[in-house]
Amino acid sequence: MRVLQLVLATSNAGKVRELRALLGDLPVRVETTDAWPDGPHDVTEDAPDLRGNARKKARAWHRHAGLAALADDTGLEVRALDGRPGVRSARFAGPNAGDDANCARLLRAMDGQADRRARFRTVAALVDDDGSEHFFEGVCEGSITTERRGEGGFGYDPLFQPEGRERTFAQLDAETKNEMSHRGRALRKLRAFLYEQFAP
Ligand code: IMP
Repeated sequence: MRVLQLVLATSNAGKVRELRALLGDLPVRVETTDAWPDGPHDVTEDAPDLRGNARKKARAWHRHAGLAALADDTGLEVRALDGRPGVRSARFAGPNAGDDANCARLLRAMDGQADRRARFRTVAALVDDDGSEHFFEGVCEGSITTERRGEGGFGYDPLFQPEGRERTFAQLDAETKNEMSHRGRALRKLRAFLYEQFAP
């Protein structure tokens, strides 16, 4: 049986674990980028949109490793900020900003703002082993809280309350977050696509 070797273009161990769990029953072997020390570990994310960045990372790893490659890019789009920070979410508070500084900047930008609607958007790009490109998008609607709540998760999780919930992502367990999250939705579309390819 054909087994798809798929490089996940990330250094985030949590994303690797998540993808392996999601694809566990398919003939897919998820490879991590540590297997290629001289690989393109620092692709500059300078595309104008999420799709462009995800594509750029997946293309770079496909070229380097000669295998199928998957990359994702996520942005937080805030209505009252005209969709910012969006594609610049990781660098909202500066080029090397951490989660804490980015959250502080977002709280400041939203100070006194009544319209707090926002959404997370993930685009996952798959460059298949034959070089063809496929994109999977997932969105999670919600709002920005007025203060940090919760200790779990990462990034903007303490400030993001998904629609229909009383809690922020940082107050939900990983499984519950995954069921409704932008990345969970995008990756389940990827899973369905791969499942189709391998279905007898
Ligand atoms: P990346 O595309 O995964 O590198 O994420 C871009 C930015 O969005 C970074 O600042 C992340 O911390 C943030 N981010 C990505 N996914 C999530 C999430 O599920 N919750 C909160 N923040 C996230």
